[in-house]
Amino acid sequence: MTKKNILLLAGDGIGPEIMLEAKKIIDWFNKNKKLDIDYSEELVGGASYDENETPLTDQVLYKAMDSDAVLLGAVGGPKWDTVDFAKKPERALLRLRKEMRLFANLRPAICFEELVSASSLKPEVISGLDILIVRELTGGIYFGEPRGIEPIENGERRGVNTHVYTSKEIRRVAKVAFDLALKRNKKVTSADKSNVMEAGLLWKEEVQSLYDEHAMYKSISLNHMLADNCAMQLVRNPKQFDVIVTDNLFGDMLSDEAAMLTGSLGMLPSASLSEKDKHGRTRSMYEPCHGSAPDIAGKGIANPIAMILSFAMALKYSLNFDQEAELLELAIKLVLKDGLRTADIMEKGKQKVSTTQMGDAIIAKLDTKK
Ligand code: NAD
Repeated sequence: MTKKNILLLAGDGIGPEIMLEAKKIIDWFNKNKKLDIDYSEELVGGASYDENETPLTDQVLYKAMDSDAVLLGAVGGPKWDTVDFAKKPERALLRLRKEMRLFANLRPAICFEELVSASSLKPEVISGLDILIVRELTGGIYFGEPRGIEPIENGERRGVNTHVYTSKEIRRVAKVAFDLALKRNKKVTSADKSNVMEAGLLWKEEVQSLYDEHAMYKSISLNHMLADNCAMQLVRNPKQFDVIVTDNLFGDMLSDEAAMLTGSLGMLPSASLSEKDKHGRTRSMYEPCHGSAPDIAGKGIANPIAMILSFAMALKYSLNFDQEAELLELAIKLVLKDGLRTADIMEKGKQKVSTTQMGDAIIAKLDTKK
């Protein structure tokens, strides 16, 4: 079996605690499924700042670029509130995304049957939910030029950001969405603001023409939806969606909204992918959707499932171990079915467990499926 190299960047706050559980899972697969996943660990975020006065050293960045996948915990926390903006822990994420050219951000919002009551929506609206949001991650208004804050007359100031997309940027992320939809329920909703923004109109036209040009996408049903309507539909009838593809700004908001439909941040993984390079290699980073949760760091109560599901996504999208990914997802489902819950998803009548106990319970379930 070919060796795979992954880089573990635990980061700050609960990052190291949940990464420990992911490592136990990787070790389990290496031992019991004879995978050859070699991992090394480096500092990122505030932990790296404390050691190196930068949230991401060049050496760690090169290592990330060279790995088959990067698994990241979380970065940031109040300890670094007064650090210069350019050296804040969160800057490490932006630099990793930019340098690794991670243009496609995949965020599944899946409602585990056992956690239906954790959602603020009615069980019948949320039960069985399985949406994938594909967000463009390296373009649009967060990166467009010109940008800045400048003085104008009468002592006033003007803040400027530019919402800009090229055909190529739109088409490559739309392709990711269509290719994923082919493996799912074959439905793509493209969300834009084509009614008021030229860049939005271009978005709609390019997504449509990519679809029209490729016969292999004909089995997919494509619809275009205004992003504000999409936000409404997500709470009204979320199960109408399969894959939603959208730009950086709307994706930021719609993916958070979709995430919260499922009730807990501690359950939500994400993947960020690059284009294939000339050797056919894709760079990738996998991380939970939540942050470093400084309020509970060090208490041993963080939910490690988002981190472990992020590793499952890495197995599927970067390491080509689809069956192993499914096995891991099944083990998590079975543990939830047994009634084990970390504090964030605790309900009456269930058994409250620590971070370590949750990791161990998942491994015990994997043991039953060896
Ligand atoms: P957060 O996601 O860290 O926490 C929000 C709430 O959810 C907290 O009450 C926290 O205890 C809880 N929570 C989050 N993950 C959990 C888990 N796995 N198990 C149980 N409970 C969990 O968001 P925040 O408080 O706004 O941000 C804290 C820090 O994290 C900030 O410095 C922020 O910049 C950073 N942040 C980092 C990332 C990242 O690394 N990708 C993402 C978001 C925020």
